[in-house]
Amino acid sequence: MTPAPHSTGFADALSRFVFEQAAVRGAVASVDGACREILASHPYPPALRRVLAELLAATALLASTLKFKGALGVQLQGTGPVRLLVVECDAELNLRATAQWKAAADDLPSDASLAMLAGDVAKSRLAITLDPKDGGPIYQGVVALEASSIAALFEHYLATSEQIDSRMLLAVADNRVRGLLLQRLPGAAAADDATWERASAQFIRISPQSVLAAAGVEALLGTNFPDDDLRLFAARRVQFRCRCSADKVARVLRMLGRTEVESILVEQGLVGVTCEFCNRHYTFVADDVRALFDGPAALPAVPPAGAAH
Ligand SMILES: [Zn+2]
Repeated sequence: MTPAPHSTGFADALSRFVFEQAAVRGAVASVDGACREILASHPYPPALRRVLAELLAATALLASTLKFKGALGVQLQGTGPVRLLVVECDAELNLRATAQWKAAADDLPSDASLAMLAGDVAKSRLAITLDPKDGGPIYQGVVALEASSIAALFEHYLATSEQIDSRMLLAVADNRVRGLLLQRLPGAAAADDATWERASAQFIRISPQSVLAAAGVEALLGTNFPDDDLRLFAARRVQFRCRCSADKVARVLRMLGRTEVESILVEQGLVGVTCEFCNRHYTFVADDVRALFDGPAALPAVPPAGAAH
Protein backbone atom coordinates (compact mmCIF):
# COMPACT_ATOMS: atom_id res chain seq x y z
CA MET A 1 0.00 0.00 0.00
CA THR A 2 1.18 3.51 -0.79
CA PRO A 3 0.77 5.27 2.57
CA ALA A 4 -0.64 8.75 2.97
CA PRO A 5 1.94 11.58 3.19
CA HIS A 6 1.27 11.71 6.91
CA SER A 7 0.55 8.66 8.97
CA THR A 8 -3.17 8.33 9.45
CA GLY A 9 -4.49 7.30 12.85
CA PHE A 10 -8.08 7.77 13.85
CA ALA A 11 -8.17 11.51 14.49
CA ASP A 12 -11.40 13.16 13.26
CA ALA A 13 -10.63 12.79 9.58
CA LEU A 14 -11.70 11.66 6.16
CA SER A 15 -9.19 9.56 4.21
CA ARG A 16 -9.73 8.63 0.56
CA PHE A 17 -8.03 5.71 -1.12
CA VAL A 18 -7.93 4.14 -4.60
CA PHE A 19 -6.99 0.72 -5.89
CA GLU A 20 -4.01 1.37 -8.19
CA GLN A 21 -4.78 -1.54 -10.55
CA ALA A 22 -8.57 -1.22 -10.84
CA ALA A 23 -11.35 1.36 -10.98
CA VAL A 24 -12.26 0.88 -7.35
CA ARG A 25 -12.07 3.59 -4.70
CA GLY A 26 -13.09 4.17 -1.14
CA ALA A 27 -12.88 6.28 1.99
CA VAL A 28 -12.57 5.93 5.74
CA ALA A 29 -14.27 8.46 8.03
CA SER A 30 -13.72 8.96 11.73
CA VAL A 31 -15.89 11.53 13.50
CA ASP A 32 -15.50 10.77 17.21
CA GLY A 33 -14.90 14.33 18.47
CA ALA A 34 -17.37 16.03 16.12
CA CYS A 35 -20.04 13.53 17.08
CA ARG A 36 -19.40 14.00 20.80
CA GLU A 37 -19.77 17.79 20.48
CA ILE A 38 -22.87 17.57 18.31
CA LEU A 39 -24.61 15.08 20.61
CA ALA A 40 -23.82 17.29 23.62
CA SER A 41 -25.99 20.12 22.21
CA HIS A 42 -29.31 18.38 22.89
CA PRO A 43 -30.68 15.64 25.19
CA TYR A 44 -31.06 13.16 22.36
CA PRO A 45 -32.63 9.78 23.29
CA PRO A 46 -30.18 6.82 23.04
CA ALA A 47 -31.69 5.43 19.82
CA LEU A 48 -31.37 8.83 18.18
CA ARG A 49 -27.78 9.25 19.36
CA ARG A 50 -26.77 6.07 17.56
CA VAL A 51 -28.59 6.91 14.30
CA LEU A 52 -27.30 10.50 14.34
CA ALA A 53 -23.73 9.22 14.87
CA GLU A 54 -24.16 6.85 11.91
CA LEU A 55 -25.59 9.65 9.77
CA LEU A 56 -22.59 11.87 10.58
CA ALA A 57 -20.12 9.20 9.43
CA ALA A 58 -22.23 8.37 6.35
CA THR A 59 -22.46 12.05 5.40
CA ALA A 60 -18.68 12.49 5.70
CA LEU A 61 -18.18 9.42 3.48
CA LEU A 62 -20.64 10.79 0.93
CA ALA A 63 -18.77 14.11 0.97
CA SER A 64 -15.63 12.18 -0.06
CA THR A 65 -17.33 11.33 -3.37
CA LEU A 66 -18.32 14.88 -4.32
CA LYS A 67 -16.66 16.43 -7.33
CA PHE A 68 -17.59 20.00 -6.38
CA LYS A 69 -16.78 22.26 -3.46
CA GLY A 70 -20.31 22.73 -2.24
CA ALA A 71 -22.53 21.77 0.66
CA LEU A 72 -24.16 18.44 1.36
CA GLY A 73 -27.41 18.14 3.28
CA VAL A 74 -28.89 14.88 4.55
CA GLN A 75 -32.43 14.83 5.92
CA LEU A 76 -34.22 11.84 7.37
CA GLN A 77 -37.94 12.54 7.65
CA GLY A 78 -40.03 10.11 9.66
CA THR A 79 -43.68 9.69 10.61
CA GLY A 80 -43.01 7.93 13.94
CA PRO A 81 -41.05 8.88 17.08
CA VAL A 82 -38.43 10.63 14.95
CA ARG A 83 -39.79 13.43 12.81
CA LEU A 84 -36.58 14.86 11.43
CA LEU A 85 -32.83 14.28 11.48
CA VAL A 86 -30.64 16.79 9.66
CA VAL A 87 -26.90 16.56 9.00
CA GLU A 88 -25.04 19.20 7.00
CA CYS A 89 -21.48 19.09 5.72
CA ASP A 90 -19.73 21.89 3.84
CA ALA A 91 -16.74 21.80 1.48
CA GLU A 92 -14.33 22.19 4.42
CA LEU A 93 -15.88 19.10 6.08
CA ASN A 94 -17.51 21.13 8.83
CA LEU A 95 -20.37 19.02 10.16
CA ARG A 96 -23.44 20.07 12.08
CA ALA A 97 -26.66 18.26 12.94
CA THR A 98 -30.01 18.56 14.66
CA ALA A 99 -33.18 16.54 15.18
CA GLN A 100 -36.85 16.75 16.06
CA TRP A 101 -38.46 13.88 17.91
CA LYS A 102 -41.51 12.92 19.97
CA ALA A 103 -41.44 11.79 23.61
CA ALA A 104 -41.99 8.19 22.42
CA ALA A 105 -38.39 8.18 21.14
CA ASP A 106 -37.15 8.22 24.76
CA ASP A 107 -38.56 4.72 25.32
CA LEU A 108 -36.90 3.10 22.30
CA PRO A 109 -33.94 0.75 22.83
CA SER A 110 -30.60 2.14 21.70
CA ASP A 111 -30.46 -0.46 18.91
CA ALA A 112 -33.96 0.42 17.62
CA SER A 113 -34.45 -0.26 13.92
CA LEU A 114 -35.08 2.46 11.37
CA ALA A 115 -38.70 1.27 11.20
CA MET A 116 -39.12 1.72 14.97
CA LEU A 117 -37.66 5.23 14.76
CA ALA A 118 -39.33 6.46 11.61
CA GLY A 119 -42.72 4.75 11.90
CA ASP A 120 -44.21 3.98 8.50
CA VAL A 121 -41.05 3.49 6.41
CA ALA A 122 -42.93 3.72 3.14
CA LYS A 123 -44.03 7.25 4.05
CA SER A 124 -40.65 8.22 5.55
CA ARG A 125 -37.71 9.26 3.42
CA LEU A 126 -34.06 10.13 3.19
CA ALA A 127 -33.39 13.25 1.14
CA ILE A 128 -29.88 14.14 0.04
CA THR A 129 -29.23 17.66 -1.22
CA LEU A 130 -26.12 18.72 -3.12
CA ASP A 131 -25.69 22.48 -3.36
CA PRO A 132 -22.68 23.50 -5.49
CA LYS A 133 -22.83 26.98 -3.86
CA ASP A 134 -21.73 28.56 -7.14
CA GLY A 135 -25.18 29.57 -8.37
CA GLY A 136 -25.52 26.26 -10.21
CA PRO A 137 -28.58 24.04 -9.82
CA ILE A 138 -29.22 22.34 -6.49
CA TYR A 139 -29.65 18.59 -6.82
CA GLN A 140 -31.88 16.52 -4.54
CA GLY A 141 -32.16 12.74 -4.44
CA VAL A 142 -34.82 11.01 -2.35
CA VAL A 143 -35.13 7.39 -1.27
CA ALA A 144 -37.83 5.76 0.89
CA LEU A 145 -36.63 4.39 4.23
CA GLU A 146 -37.26 0.82 3.08
CA ALA A 147 -33.84 -0.43 4.15
CA SER A 148 -32.71 -2.05 7.37
CA SER A 149 -29.90 0.38 8.19
CA ILE A 150 -28.46 3.82 7.47
CA ALA A 151 -25.58 2.17 5.57
CA ALA A 152 -28.01 0.20 3.39
CA LEU A 153 -30.00 3.39 2.72
CA PHE A 154 -26.91 5.21 1.51
CA GLU A 155 -25.86 2.24 -0.64
CA HIS A 156 -29.36 2.32 -2.18
CA TYR A 157 -29.15 6.09 -2.75
CA LEU A 158 -25.73 5.78 -4.43
CA ALA A 159 -26.92 2.89 -6.64
CA THR A 160 -30.17 4.56 -7.75
CA SER A 161 -29.32 8.29 -7.82
CA GLU A 162 -25.67 8.17 -8.83
CA GLN A 163 -25.50 4.73 -10.48
CA ILE A 164 -22.43 3.79 -8.43
CA ASP A 165 -22.15 0.32 -6.87
CA SER A 166 -21.16 1.00 -3.26
CA ARG A 167 -20.60 -0.78 0.03
CA MET A 168 -20.85 1.16 3.28
CA LEU A 169 -20.07 0.05 6.81
CA LEU A 170 -20.86 2.20 9.86
CA ALA A 171 -19.52 1.35 13.31
CA VAL A 172 -20.57 3.19 16.48
CA ALA A 173 -19.60 2.37 20.08
CA ASP A 174 -18.24 4.08 23.19
CA ASN A 175 -17.78 7.57 21.72
CA ARG A 176 -16.19 6.14 18.57
CA VAL A 177 -17.82 6.63 15.18
CA ARG A 178 -16.23 5.13 12.07
CA GLY A 179 -17.37 4.67 8.51
CA LEU A 180 -15.94 2.75 5.59
CA LEU A 181 -16.94 3.13 1.94
CA LEU A 182 -15.98 1.10 -1.13
CA GLN A 183 -17.11 2.03 -4.65
CA ARG A 184 -16.83 0.69 -8.18
CA LEU A 185 -15.99 3.84 -10.11
CA PRO A 186 -18.39 4.99 -12.81
CA GLY A 187 -17.12 3.86 -16.19
CA ALA A 188 -15.19 0.94 -14.73
CA ALA A 189 -14.26 -1.60 -17.44
CA ALA A 190 -15.09 -5.30 -17.43
CA ALA A 191 -11.47 -5.93 -16.45
CA ASP A 192 -12.20 -4.20 -13.14
CA ASP A 193 -15.05 -6.56 -12.29
CA ALA A 194 -12.87 -9.25 -10.73
CA THR A 195 -11.24 -6.75 -8.35
CA TRP A 196 -14.58 -5.24 -7.45
CA GLU A 197 -16.18 -8.66 -6.82
CA ARG A 198 -13.28 -9.76 -4.64
CA ALA A 199 -12.94 -6.46 -2.75
CA SER A 200 -16.67 -6.09 -2.14
CA ALA A 201 -16.89 -9.75 -0.99
CA GLN A 202 -14.10 -9.00 1.49
CA PHE A 203 -15.82 -5.75 2.52
CA ILE A 204 -18.97 -7.62 3.56
CA ARG A 205 -16.84 -9.78 5.89
CA ILE A 206 -15.44 -6.76 7.78
CA SER A 207 -17.03 -6.51 11.22
CA PRO A 208 -17.90 -3.18 12.88
CA GLN A 209 -15.91 -4.37 15.91
CA SER A 210 -12.74 -4.78 13.84
CA VAL A 211 -13.17 -1.28 12.40
CA LEU A 212 -13.52 0.16 15.92
CA ALA A 213 -10.53 -1.86 17.16
CA ALA A 214 -8.16 -0.99 14.26
CA ALA A 215 -5.13 1.12 15.21
CA GLY A 216 -5.58 3.44 12.27
CA VAL A 217 -6.64 3.80 8.64
CA GLU A 218 -3.52 2.13 7.21
CA ALA A 219 -3.84 -0.82 9.56
CA LEU A 220 -7.52 -1.20 8.72
CA LEU A 221 -6.96 -1.20 4.95
CA GLY A 222 -3.77 -3.29 5.12
CA THR A 223 -5.52 -5.99 7.15
CA ASN A 224 -8.54 -6.20 4.89
CA PHE A 225 -6.96 -5.74 1.45
CA PRO A 226 -3.46 -7.23 1.97
CA ASP A 227 -2.95 -8.27 -1.66
CA ASP A 228 -4.12 -5.05 -3.29
CA ASP A 229 -2.02 -2.09 -4.28
CA LEU A 230 -3.81 0.78 -2.52
CA ARG A 231 -2.92 4.44 -2.59
CA LEU A 232 -4.02 6.36 0.48
CA PHE A 233 -4.45 10.13 0.10
CA ALA A 234 -3.68 12.69 2.80
CA ALA A 235 -6.38 12.74 5.44
CA ARG A 236 -8.62 15.79 5.64
CA ARG A 237 -9.81 17.10 8.98
CA VAL A 238 -13.49 16.68 9.86
CA GLN A 239 -14.92 18.86 12.60
CA PHE A 240 -18.07 20.21 14.19
CA ARG A 241 -18.64 23.83 13.27
CA CYS A 242 -21.92 25.70 13.05
CA ARG A 243 -22.45 28.41 10.45
CA CYS A 244 -24.93 30.42 12.52
CA SER A 245 -24.21 34.08 13.29
CA ALA A 246 -25.94 37.19 14.65
CA ASP A 247 -26.14 38.50 11.06
CA LYS A 248 -27.94 35.40 9.83
CA VAL A 249 -30.39 35.48 12.75
CA ALA A 250 -31.03 39.19 12.02
CA ARG A 251 -31.85 38.29 8.42
CA VAL A 252 -34.39 35.70 9.57
CA LEU A 253 -36.02 38.22 11.93
CA ARG A 254 -36.29 40.79 9.11
CA MET A 255 -38.02 38.16 6.98
CA LEU A 256 -40.43 37.47 9.85
CA GLY A 257 -41.47 41.13 9.67
CA ARG A 258 -41.52 44.09 12.03
CA THR A 259 -45.04 43.54 13.38
CA GLU A 260 -44.32 39.97 14.39
CA VAL A 261 -40.92 40.72 15.92
CA GLU A 262 -42.18 43.77 17.85
CA SER A 263 -45.09 41.76 19.24
CA ILE A 264 -42.59 39.19 20.60
CA LEU A 265 -40.60 42.09 22.09
CA VAL A 266 -43.70 43.50 23.83
CA GLU A 267 -44.72 40.07 25.09
CA GLN A 268 -41.33 38.86 26.31
CA GLY A 269 -39.26 42.01 26.81
CA LEU A 270 -36.65 40.76 24.36
CA VAL A 271 -36.40 38.58 21.28
CA GLY A 272 -34.42 35.38 21.90
CA VAL A 273 -33.41 32.99 19.14
CA THR A 274 -31.64 29.68 19.75
CA CYS A 275 -29.75 27.94 16.95
CA GLU A 276 -31.27 24.48 16.58
CA PHE A 277 -27.90 23.08 15.45
CA CYS A 278 -25.44 24.32 18.09
CA ASN A 279 -27.80 25.63 20.78
CA ARG A 280 -26.14 29.07 20.73
CA HIS A 281 -28.50 31.77 22.00
CA TYR A 282 -28.93 35.16 20.34
CA THR A 283 -30.73 37.97 22.17
CA PHE A 284 -32.17 41.14 20.62
CA VAL A 285 -33.30 43.93 22.99
CA ALA A 286 -35.52 46.87 21.97
CA ASP A 287 -32.63 48.93 20.52
CA ASP A 288 -31.42 45.91 18.48
CA VAL A 289 -34.92 45.38 17.08
CA ARG A 290 -35.18 49.07 16.09
CA ALA A 291 -31.80 48.84 14.34
CA LEU A 292 -32.94 45.66 12.56
CA PHE A 293 -35.79 47.44 10.79
CA ASP A 294 -34.68 51.07 10.65
CA GLY A 295 -31.08 50.32 9.73
CA PRO A 296 -28.13 52.47 10.79
CA ALA A 297 -30.42 55.53 11.11
CA ALA A 298 -31.74 54.06 14.33
CA LEU A 299 -28.26 53.77 15.77
CA PRO A 300 -26.66 56.72 17.60
CA ALA A 301 -26.02 59.44 15.02
CA VAL A 302 -22.55 59.36 13.48
CA PRO A 303 -21.54 62.34 11.33
CA PRO A 304 -21.19 61.28 7.67
CA ALA A 305 -17.60 60.98 6.44
CA GLY A 306 -16.21 64.34 5.39
CA ALA A 307 -18.84 66.32 7.36
CA ALA A 308 -17.63 69.54 8.95
CA HIS A 309 -16.88 69.28 12.64
ZN1 LIG B 1 -25.46 27.38 15.40
